[in-house]
Amino acid sequence: MKRHYFLGLAAGRKIGAARQLFAIGRKKHLVELEKTLSKHYDGTAILCKNGRSGLAIALESYFKKGDGIIINAFTCYAVVEAIETAGCVPIYADISKEDLNFNVATLKKVNKKGAKGIIIQNTLGNPVDIVEIEKFAKNNGLLIIEDLAHCAGVRYPDRREVGTVGVATALSFGKDKSIDTTSGGAVIIRNTESSNRETPSVRLSSPKFCDSARARWYPTLAAWCRGLARLHLCGALMRLFVKIHFVEKSADNKLDISKRCTKWQAKLALEQIKDLRRTGEGKIRDFYLVNDRDKCLKELKKAGFHFDGFWYERPISPERYYKKVHFPEKECPMATEVAAQIINVPRYYPRTKLKKAYKIIKSYLVEEKK
Ligand SMILES: *Cc1c(COP(=O)(O)O)cnc(C)c1O
Repeated sequence: MKRHYFLGLAAGRKIGAARQLFAIGRKKHLVELEKTLSKHYDGTAILCKNGRSGLAIALESYFKKGDGIIINAFTCYAVVEAIETAGCVPIYADISKEDLNFNVATLKKVNKKGAKGIIIQNTLGNPVDIVEIEKFAKNNGLLIIEDLAHCAGVRYPDRREVGTVGVATALSFGKDKSIDTTSGGAVIIRNTESSNRETPSVRLSSPKFCDSARARWYPTLAAWCRGLARLHLCGALMRLFVKIHFVEKSADNKLDISKRCTKWQAKLALEQIKDLRRTGEGKIRDFYLVNDRDKCLKELKKAGFHFDGFWYERPISPERYYKKVHFPEKECPMATEVAAQIINVPRYYPRTKLKKAYKIIKSYLVEEKK
């Protein structure tokens, strides 16, 4: 664990911290990324400031104010923010404990509310039963938007790649996502006929210099903090960086549909997309359901594993936004229960280093997982 982050070079991550600090991007990288995404997902790609901005552009392209959009009841506040920005209304469909996704049974329950669209997120990289859900969407006049933040490159059970089914596909390049350049994202508008956007290829403006610098430095600062974990300075140092706005918590990354990602982010995203193609490894986390999570996390921490940045501690995370969304806990009992029990482990940790962590987690498991 400790050597793993030596000198800020996070070996085992798809991209090293130093690589991100010094990457030089050019306009040609923006153009190439746009072209690559347009071709791969068969539509018109727009590079964005982050994933939620991409989702908001997708929603504004197909829906009117007041339209209901069905989403996974176990998700990130970013998704709700995108829906609200587009003037639409989130409708939460409960999940199954097996894959953390909604299914046709839970979709049927909420569809009485007259939804117009559905966002498929393939939680943590676990694909939904797309054939059934696509049928359901068609029969009920729902347009599908695919959110690839957790699952770029993953395949559905029928072997189609995620992001090739719906009318629009949103990608996030945020921290710990399938493609990670700390922030950034894209959206691909696939069905321009039913879209009410006149010119999908709007040229968005470049991000502010301080936002770009902050994103560049994040992996290095995080690695330094981890290096100091033994001195118990890690949390304090990170809190200080957040306070002086040197580090931004990913949930606080502002939605802005007028900005795009940076040139260096486009360059690194391109590299990672090529990598994803080669390995097919887009799933981001493995999850476990445990009793007494706080105690389990404490024990893990003592052993050197900091998993408390897990997804998600609330049905709509993070905690500080949860009260704002008025989440219907009674209608989504599974999402509520899972949020109290889940621990998840990023896939970039080397398996061998995790042996000790698994041993601890195993002693807390709610039930033996297959
Ligand atoms: C993180 C995330 C997004 C997008 O996040 P950004 O920070 O805006 O890039 C979208 N959907 C899900 C499910 C996410 O976890």
